[in-house]
Amino acid sequence: MASCKSCYTVIPLDKCAISQSIETVYRCGNCSAALVEIGKLPPLGTSPPRGGRRLGDFFIRNHAELRYRGVLVPNIPDALNQKR
Ligand SMILES: [Zn+2]
Repeated sequence: MASCKSCYTVIPLDKCAISQSIETVYRCGNCSAALVEIGKLPPLGTSPPRGGRRLGDFFIRNHAELRYRGVLVPNIPDALNQKR
């Protein structure tokens, strides 16, 4: 479950619109704000993506507060301001 900061909708991730490029982006079905970006971990020896955190074999950058397998993952406040 992710709670959208833009429209305050709480939406299950499997109901989100998904756009897939290098990273998988889950978008709010209501206002289409980006909620969560999930990508593969970078190779060892390279620096991890900024604003992201490791989650298993992936890194995750969540703009919305997220519940993943019962664990609350707080959003990263400045995630939206970061450019890569
Ligand atoms: Zn929304």
